[in-house]
Amino acid sequence: MAKAIISEADNLAATLLSSSTSTSKSSSKIVAPSLLADASTRLERALRYVSISDDAISRLRYPKASLSVSIPVRMDDGSLRIFQGYRVRYDDTRGPGKGGVRYHPNVTLDEVQSLAFWMTFKCALLNLPFGGAKGGVTVNPKELSQAELERLSRGYVDAIADFIGPDVDIPAPDVYTNSTIMGWMMDQYSIIKRQLTRGVVTGKPLTLGGSRGRETATAMGAFYIIQTILPKFNQIPEQTTVAMQGFGNAGSTLADLLAKAGYKVVAVSDSQGGIYAPQGLDIPSIREYKNSRRSVKAVYCKDSVCNIVEHQVITNEQLLTLDVDVLIPAALENQITIANASDVKAKYIFEVANGPITSAADDILSDKGIHVFPDILVNAGGVTVSYFEWVQNRNGWYWTLEEINQRLKEKMEAETQQTWSIAQELGVSIRTAAYIHALNRLGEALDAKGTRDYYINPM
Ligand code: NAD
Repeated sequence: MAKAIISEADNLAATLLSSSTSTSKSSSKIVAPSLLADASTRLERALRYVSISDDAISRLRYPKASLSVSIPVRMDDGSLRIFQGYRVRYDDTRGPGKGGVRYHPNVTLDEVQSLAFWMTFKCALLNLPFGGAKGGVTVNPKELSQAELERLSRGYVDAIADFIGPDVDIPAPDVYTNSTIMGWMMDQYSIIKRQLTRGVVTGKPLTLGGSRGRETATAMGAFYIIQTILPKFNQIPEQTTVAMQGFGNAGSTLADLLAKAGYKVVAVSDSQGGIYAPQGLDIPSIREYKNSRRSVKAVYCKDSVCNIVEHQVITNEQLLTLDVDVLIPAALENQITIANASDVKAKYIFEVANGPITSAADDILSDKGIHVFPDILVNAGGVTVSYFEWVQNRNGWYWTLEEINQRLKEKMEAETQQTWSIAQELGVSIRTAAYIHALNRLGEALDAKGTRDYYINPM
């Protein structure tokens, strides 16, 4: 079985499904979306080490359902603009779909499908009772007023309301969405259903049923992993330099946690560029600078870290190739590719962003002896506390911040140790070990569901 699967890997790029309009469950073959095809190569690499059925593997190669919608929004000047939105449920065998909603000008169906793919493996890796999903709207939200942003968010929920639900698919924040937007989405869904439905969205404001610790969860989870991993290499915080690409929710919080723990954060960047100071940056003052310059109230920051002129200004490209111990991509996909992987000098890379390294770049980094800790493990703190939020919403019983962080720490450390052990036992990369660990759980669930009668060929 395994051999046949591996030999199919090269054909995968040509056979992945894409559906660009309406809900799609068909099996027509069209040209592969590149991001999802690249993401899927990680699955193929792990398959030779697991013994799950061919049926289960076939299911995992394709997104279960992809919804593409147009969202009409009345702008402040009276004009009507139509935005493109998506929601993808990749797999929901282990539970309702779970995944964030991204607002970004480059959002495409291919990107959302890839993000939903990663969510599927992330939830299985952390043993959360969820499948994988993701959503997105193609928009530059920084160009919208707050009222336009609210109308867009409510319009998005109107368009996907039949596709989501607390037992179906549960959105959360991602790039350029936050708790304010999640609050609007939960409210809109509740209006549509004529019933307060807190568990339909996570990452909400505390006052609307959000969880303590959700805003910092992705960074906290990554921090616990870094603190678990680096001692294995005798790398102590005070002698560890860090470069962070992306200074948003995840990146800026993690930079702060690391600096407080004694690490020397020497470079940070955002969409406009970065700053570098070999002696270490004052992270709290950079966060304060960013937070005090929001263009759309309480949502987006107007100024860049580059405007802090007392530091050396660098580009995002330069940040990725700095001579540091730890590199943390915490922005977007495809940042380290075959074009720049051979210039990366860091010893350890912790992927806080989803998909920042292409599969071809992975091989180059591996040849250079760079240890890469994958997105589906490193950034799983966010979805883990989203799970805690969903549990609290359903029980109506809310936990303290200490309880949240303790449970998060236990989960992150346990799954990191298991992934580490698999990597050591099988002599594979941590990324492949993470996929093996997740695949075992996914395969078990898919096989346990059995085969429906109409799949059986009477011949
Ligand atoms: P965010 O919107 O809060 O911040 C994004 C940051 O990336 C900003 O600083 C922005 O300026 C920067 N950025 C945007 N384009 C860039 C570019 N081309 N080059 C460099 N920087 C750029 O988003 P976030 O929630 O911090 O998410 C960051 C990454 O972490 C994403 O890949 C997201 O999918 C992943 N992630 C986030 C969560 C979460 O709970 N927030 C959970 C899991 C994974």
